[in-house]
Amino acid sequence: MLSLARAPLFTLLLLISTGLLAEGFWPRQALVPGGIAVLEVPQRSEAPPHVYFNDRRVYTAQKEGRWYAWVGIPLNQKAGQTQALWRTRDGDLPLAFEVGDYPYEEQHLDVDFRYVELSEEDLARVRRETPELRGAMDEFRPVRVRLPGEVTKPLEGRHSSPFGLRRVFNGEPRNPHSGLDIAAPMDSPIVAAFPGRVVAKNHYFFNGKTLVIDHGMGMTSMYCHMNAFADLKIGDEVEAGQLIGKVGTTGRSTGPHLHWTMSLNGARVDPELFLPEN
Ligand SMILES: [Zn+2]
Repeated sequence: MLSLARAPLFTLLLLISTGLLAEGFWPRQALVPGGIAVLEVPQRSEAPPHVYFNDRRVYTAQKEGRWYAWVGIPLNQKAGQTQALWRTRDGDLPLAFEVGDYPYEEQHLDVDFRYVELSEEDLARVRRETPELRGAMDEFRPVRVRLPGEVTKPLEGRHSSPFGLRRVFNGEPRNPHSGLDIAAPMDSPIVAAFPGRVVAKNHYFFNGKTLVIDHGMGMTSMYCHMNAFADLKIGDEVEAGQLIGKVGTTGRSTGPHLHWTMSLNGARVDPELFLPEN
């Protein structure tokens, strides 16, 4: 392991010039619903800028001395011109960008009718669980977590169902697919994509056994349909790549798989944008 404290200056300069130093993770941009707009924020101070989209604080990160906002574009965003707002002493300044058309296909699935025609009891359960999950995923925690250079893919396996599909369950249109499904054998290990803190852990009606990790500044990840949880509780800090649970098919699921969701500023975005381009 190279000790930077003892490295001669020219070694440090070499590391900087070859990009080996300090450049943390960076997502890919996709200017579509469910995508990410990476916008430069012309703020010169070291303090992170305050940027808002739909009244929600946006994740900001520094690269080569410049600030950028990673704006999560919600799946229900209409195509066309829109803007994030950069809060300055002189008021809010627009950071404009253009959103393209909804690019995702339709998918028809057959599941147990219990998950389509909800009983009163199940409906009451969903009404309790939804705010709990949304609260965990959408809260802005003003903590800057140092991200590694690359995401750790939570599970190796076939991408069985991409993000964004318009979904029809047993002939009934339902919410679009807000995560990426990765199929793998029962009880395969699932690991955390980034470092962070466990903010939700429960067995939910639709999502089954689910864990939510908060990565700070409004970025969260969610892992669903697990068969078993690792020994973790809400409030625990996890490392990237740490075991968080095992693959299962709990909740509204058609077979053993992981449903992996990434969120920025309360918007569900395509986890593929966090993976290296293949
Ligand atoms: Zn899914």
